[in-house]
Amino acid sequence: MTTDKIKRVTYIINTVILLMVIFLMTFFIIFKATFMIYFSIPTMLVYIAGYFLVFKDRLDIYVIMVYFWLTIYMSVSTICMGNEYGFELYTMSMIPIIFMLEYIAFKIKRAKVKAFPFSIAIVVIYMVSTFYVFHFGSVYEVEKNAAKILWICNSLIVLSFLIFYSSFSVRNIIESEKRLNYMANLDNLTKLYNRHYMMDKLENIESAENTAFLAMIDIDDFKQINDIYGHNAGDYVLVHIADIMRSVCKKCTVSRWGGEEFLILYEDKIDKEKNVFEKLRKAVDSEKFVFDDQDIKVTVTIGLAEKTSDESIEKWVQAADEKLYSGKKSGKNKVVI
Ligand code: GH3
Ligand code: MG
Ligand code: MG
Repeated sequence: MTTDKIKRVTYIINTVILLMVIFLMTFFIIFKATFMIYFSIPTMLVYIAGYFLVFKDRLDIYVIMVYFWLTIYMSVSTICMGNEYGFELYTMSMIPIIFMLEYIAFKIKRAKVKAFPFSIAIVVIYMVSTFYVFHFGSVYEVEKNAAKILWICNSLIVLSFLIFYSSFSVRNIIESEKRLNYMANLDNLTKLYNRHYMMDKLENIESAENTAFLAMIDIDDFKQINDIYGHNAGDYVLVHIADIMRSVCKKCTVSRWGGEEFLILYEDKIDKEKNVFEKLRKAVDSEKFVFDDQDIKVTVTIGLAEKTSDESIEKWVQAADEKLYSGKKSGKNKVVI
């Protein structure tokens, strides 16, 4: 999640809270709860200042300020209006949200928000204000019908917040996991599968009875390409060859096995004379690689090994590697089965 996205969400939340304060202020005016009317004014100023803090990227200060004020607001309104309006319900939504904010603060690498002591403080303040009302009664008289309406409004607001935050956090976790999986399985440069993914894939087909081939592909004289045209040109060749491999063999699982070596899994029968790997070799051979206006001649050598039922993955990979080696020794730019 980007800082911009977090800021946008924070603007929305701030607006919702501000509207809520205005709505409650109207209610306090109707029921002549004078202290709560005056208390609503600094509360509104806090949230107006909130916009400025978010704009200035001070989300850390914003979060602490909002929590501090929300807790005070919850406590003061409970003492003034009593327990029958549902102001104390805000405590229930504040605790999961403060934990969520600890996570957001970690993501944007800002000052740490310590959710645990914060939530304990919220519980203590909630208990103190609730017991105060039980013992001394509320400052203002409770009007039964108004209490019912406000209880419903307050609980709806709290429940909406809880739904919003829960779905927001779960979506975030899913997004993060997807991104991590993506990063863990793909090679950064070529966006092909990496060795780790390919090993997993091979381990999972081990028991299958179907025909399968492994192709070990190595770029010929790649060191020279780097030496003559530079490392960036070498990288360009790797990326371009990855594209060719993807487009020539749609059925293949293509991985970057190491530096300039690729391992391809082909789960089907192969025609020895006119196979897809011969097509791939020719495609690379005839491709025009141009980097910084310079033509680069690129060829690959491919070693192919069929899976036999009793051999291990290591042996299978080694068999493809040996075929590749014999192709390199006998002149390169060829497919060896
Ligand atoms: P052969 O035909 O026998 O395969 O010779 P070769 O030059 O291709 O083989 P060698 O193993 O001597 O050289 C491989 C080179 O690949 C050496 C290394 O610097 C380069 N290389 C490995 N990874 C990368 C990379 O990510 N980018 C670039 N540009 N070069 C890389
Ligand atoms: Mg090599
Ligand atoms: Mg090579």
